[in-house]
Amino acid sequence: MLTEERTSNTQSTEEQVPLSVTRNGQIYEEPLIFERSIPGRVGFSFPEDDAGLDHEIKGDLLREEDSLHLPEVSEPEVVRHFTRLSTWNYGIDLNLYPLGSCSMKYNPRINEEVAALPHFKDAHPSMPPRYNQDVLQVVHQLQDMICQLTDMPAVTLQPAAGAHGELTGLFLMQAYHRDKGQERKVILVPDSAHGTNPASCTLAGYDVKELKSTRQGLLDLDDLKANLSPDVAGLMITNPNTVGVFETNIRAIADLLHENDSLLYMDGANYNAIIGQASLGKMGVDVSHLNLHKTFSTPHGGGGPGGAAVVVSHRLQDFLPGPHVVRNGEDFELVSAPKTIGRMKAGIGHFGVLLRACIFIRSHGNQMGAIAEHAVLNANIVRKNLMEHFQLASDNDSMHEVVFSDSKQKKTGFSTMDLAKALIDYGYHPPTVYFPLSVHGAIMIEPTESESPETLDHFSRVMKDIAERMQAGDQDLSSAPHRAFVTRIDEATAARNPVLNYFTK
Ligand SMILES: *Cc1c(COP(=O)(O)O)cnc(C)c1O
Repeated sequence: MLTEERTSNTQSTEEQVPLSVTRNGQIYEEPLIFERSIPGRVGFSFPEDDAGLDHEIKGDLLREEDSLHLPEVSEPEVVRHFTRLSTWNYGIDLNLYPLGSCSMKYNPRINEEVAALPHFKDAHPSMPPRYNQDVLQVVHQLQDMICQLTDMPAVTLQPAAGAHGELTGLFLMQAYHRDKGQERKVILVPDSAHGTNPASCTLAGYDVKELKSTRQGLLDLDDLKANLSPDVAGLMITNPNTVGVFETNIRAIADLLHENDSLLYMDGANYNAIIGQASLGKMGVDVSHLNLHKTFSTPHGGGGPGGAAVVVSHRLQDFLPGPHVVRNGEDFELVSAPKTIGRMKAGIGHFGVLLRACIFIRSHGNQMGAIAEHAVLNANIVRKNLMEHFQLASDNDSMHEVVFSDSKQKKTGFSTMDLAKALIDYGYHPPTVYFPLSVHGAIMIEPTESESPETLDHFSRVMKDIAERMQAGDQDLSSAPHRAFVTRIDEATAARNPVLNYFTK
């Protein structure tokens, strides 16, 4: 095994590098770029200067020793280094990415084409609005389209991600209550909530009170009523929720809250299931964030720039973070809401992300509803394919994702983690596992509308194959993956003490 070679090869550099640079054909080994460094090697050299100018750094300006320890490599070495590393990544361009609650959908190439146009690519956030009119027009269009799609009166596009949108929404709720001279301290959050919900509440200075779910995976209305005190600023609920089920009582929930002058925050990360089909306005929602990197096909970017649209009701409109774009005759201008909470981000937000979201919506025209239909259909294909082999977490119809528990696998001695790791050997990224916490050993699959029925059938065959191998007691599964770059690791230790240069260690 290559891992053993790595640990035993510690004598000389020559022996450290395995003879084959690839594993499994064309998956390339790659050391840290610092280990590629050869003193004096450069990316490019300046030509001899005919004009006799001296480029050498001299005297006081010269660093005494190279304290930066930057890698010294040639340009092709840099290109190969990063290209090889990029082949270690799993991406939606390789295969199905079934992570539940993440909407890992295909990022259309047309988005990139348009985003690369010079007047968009080179736009600068500090340019005066009169030189940036086409940028402002795009943002204005996106504001308009998102308000129309959600049936909500106003939106901010400033937040950098879903969780940042949550914080924005909570600040808006705080501003609303403070404007009425109230300091409400509590946000109600169902036990099935995404981890970012209670975290954002805490960051915004709220106390979190957890509400129970019913056996069907819906919010328990009696528990809501019992907890509605004058101290409750609002409820934060995901819809469709994290068990992949639509909260059919959402309007009743909104009415109960409003009678108490509390607000309804709907986590709209799962908006893909209802886009073009449902009105957030009619549900009675006061504030909701829609992750542009989920529903609107912008790249997830591994922690890079994301974006969220935060839509609000009339109650919260005056407090929106500024600035947003308004149209004044032929011109587009930046203005702030009258009682704005201030900025959540420099400029108008991540324009490159906003632009891609805008193109995604425009390229679907009035067919946005078909996205939700196909996303829901695909989740239900997987549900139907797998329901004999895996235990459904809820009997209610699935929306855009399907959640199973591990109860059928538990008797075999194998875990949800074993299933997730085994999938890697078949060339699939694992689904979301052990979330939501309310489902034991949860396996949460969201195919999105991007996938063909053939891909879903193949994935289902793989899932069933693993389930059958578990039944047969195939011990190989407890140490899977076997064919991946890194085999089974101690995840907690790996997260705390990552070994990044395992190629030579
Ligand atoms: C993804 C997600 C979030 C957080 O969004 P980020 O953009 O990752 O910060 C919040 N709630 C739910 C339900 C989600 O699925």
